Amino acid sequence: MILFIKEMKSWKRFWISALSVGIGLSVFATYAEEISVITTFVPVYSWAKGAAGESANVENLLDGAVGPHEFQLTPGNVRKLNSADLIICIGLDLEPWLEAMEAQGALKKEVKLLKLGEKLDKDELIKYCESIEEEHAHSGEAEAQNDREEDHSHTHSHGEYDPHIWLDPILAQKCTELIAEELGLLRPEKNDNFKKNAQEYCKRLEALDKELQEGLKNVKDKSFYTMHNAFAYFNKRYGLKCAGVLQEVPDTNVSPRHLSELLKKIESERVSAILVPSADERNRMVRQMARDGGLEIGILETLETLDDGALNVEAYERMIRSNLKVLQRVLQ
Ligand SMILES: [Zn+2]
Repeated sequence: MILFIKEMKSWKRFWISALSVGIGLSVFATYAEEISVITTFVPVYSWAKGAAGESANVENLLDGAVGPHEFQLTPGNVRKLNSADLIICIGLDLEPWLEAMEAQGALKKEVKLLKLGEKLDKDELIKYCESIEEEHAHSGEAEAQNDREEDHSHTHSHGEYDPHIWLDPILAQKCTELIAEELGLLRPEKNDNFKKNAQEYCKRLEALDKELQEGLKNVKDKSFYTMHNAFAYFNKRYGLKCAGVLQEVPDTNVSPRHLSELLKKIESERVSAILVPSADERNRMVRQMARDGGLEIGILETLETLDDGALNVEAYERMIRSNLKVLQRVLQ
């Protein structure tokens, strides 16, 4: 009898340990199955969530307070990026810290890097000189002045193409499809899931585009100034006119000459507002310009940082819709 009880105990032990090994293995299997994706900033995160659904683990690197132009990598970020299966970014020199990491060989070979902007058709991209040339055409002298300013304060390296593609919801759909394709290559058995998710998400982006087309069709005859040169793709898609940019080179002082030129053409160009990201709303120069020119100040986000809402699959649409409302209000 004692022997029997002993035997029972050892069998019990056997099953308990077999069960826990089994649970351990299945946890490991589920974990190993999920692809780990890291996106650089808000729009890319929403698109990747849209394409991945529940079939991949998507994490965003930037916490939402700092934008991709000025972000700086910490050793923890480098470790995190190296632990991913796939990193998704815009490319086109938007994320210089990631380019540098790649160039220095600090990014592991096994980590795939998808640069969305560089996968798009070249004729969908806007060359940097095109958007700046237009502005400079009005002011040869201002150009010389700005060149001097660039010499000592040009912290942003510009690539050949303008990277702000995410502000165009049609290009956003293409990016989402590219993401789904890449996820499918990494996990062929989930390819259909990714495709279906992307199709559904793209339908939402199509609806967003329709809303913008409809909502902006009556405000095209008015124009506005922006703080930075970030809206070329958006303006091109919806036929809006940005008559000038306050800071042609981000984070530089604006010359008084450039300001007075902007003030001079307010009437002839039918400029009705200065549109700035919320971080620049209290900017002294913006306030002064609005007062002197009788312009309204509106918040137009570049989506490089996060608004007050949550970072989720809807964040991209939410922020674009909020821009739409502002444009309708200030340009009507
Ligand atoms: Zn930007």
